[in-house]
Amino acid sequence: MSKVRHVLGISGGKDSAALAIYVKTKYPSIDMDFYSCDTGKELEETYQLIRNLEVYLGVKINLLQGAENSSEDPFDHFLKMYGGFLPSSTARWCTKKLKLEPFENYVGTDPVISYVGIRGDEEREGYISTKKNIQSIFPFRKNIWSQDVVSKLLSNQNLEQLLNISQNVDFGKNQEKVIQTLSRKIEPSFTLYQKLNTLLDANVKAFNHLVFDFLKTTDYPLATEESFPLLDNDEVLVRDDVFRILEESGVGVPAYYNKVDFEINGKKGQYARSRSGCFFCFYQQKIEWVWLYEQHPELYKKAMEYEKDGYTWGQGESLEELIQPKRMAAIKEDYIKRMERKSKVKSPYLLDILDDAEGEGCASCFV
Ligand code: SF4
Repeated sequence: MSKVRHVLGISGGKDSAALAIYVKTKYPSIDMDFYSCDTGKELEETYQLIRNLEVYLGVKINLLQGAENSSEDPFDHFLKMYGGFLPSSTARWCTKKLKLEPFENYVGTDPVISYVGIRGDEEREGYISTKKNIQSIFPFRKNIWSQDVVSKLLSNQNLEQLLNISQNVDFGKNQEKVIQTLSRKIEPSFTLYQKLNTLLDANVKAFNHLVFDFLKTTDYPLATEESFPLLDNDEVLVRDDVFRILEESGVGVPAYYNKVDFEINGKKGQYARSRSGCFFCFYQQKIEWVWLYEQHPELYKKAMEYEKDGYTWGQGESLEELIQPKRMAAIKEDYIKRMERKSKVKSPYLLDILDDAEGEGCASCFV
């Protein structure tokens, strides 16, 4: 079997950038490959973040593109292939063609550990490759293991095997409680989630060692590693930690997060963009489209040019309609009202107001 590769994808967002800094600083012994899937349609702020990271990490970040041999930008190439059909949250061919497939081609059939920056304060699971040679690890969470590993580990079928393995793992004063928990079958009154949390609460590091020993009996990529430094990590990192890491490292927070003042009908507000991804991403909120129109008018114009033959980026409204003065004023006023409702939030970033959609999309584009 080939040597296990360790890879970390930079989406252009804050979380994956902070993860790259965190892992490089805390685990310098991991021979990490950094990559970014370039759609050709990212904001300049994203490319700047990648350049800053390259300086900090002291390595080149591999830029991966779908349709490598095409003379067009990857997005334009595939848009043509899909007959001008713009992607949407229910027909997201863009993520598949521009993010997931280039990544899977990059790793090929090599056994791979893929580090993903989902934070400890998020509920979502992120992208899990269905390819057996790719194993995802989530270093910012208390549970660093992916859902598929946890389901296999705690499955009722493996109960005896896990009890045997646990004899060699030291859970300290919680040993007995752990044995009792491991002995209990999963059923409606004792869910997989409850079992997992009881074990994590007993001792995170010991749980990680238990999982690692169990993985040795499987064909997951980690089975071939003699050790794994993250087993002894029980830190949980949340959004504030991510901003702190970016600022303290000097890499900086992507500039699109910076608040910009605006005024409408005598009322004052501040807007920004809440995440990375293509400048025309259909996940952005109305106020973010207004931000794009006012802060990057040339990009807004380009986004408008894609709207033809009845296809629009948003549902029920074209970008041309969205920038009509009355409509734009209404969007700004609605948004100011939302800001006022959330005004108790002290965050220096607007994410706390714009974050309604933070969990949407996928780890490949926005983490
Ligand atoms: S950022 Fe948005 S438009 Fe771009 S690939 Fe991801 S989901 Fe698609």
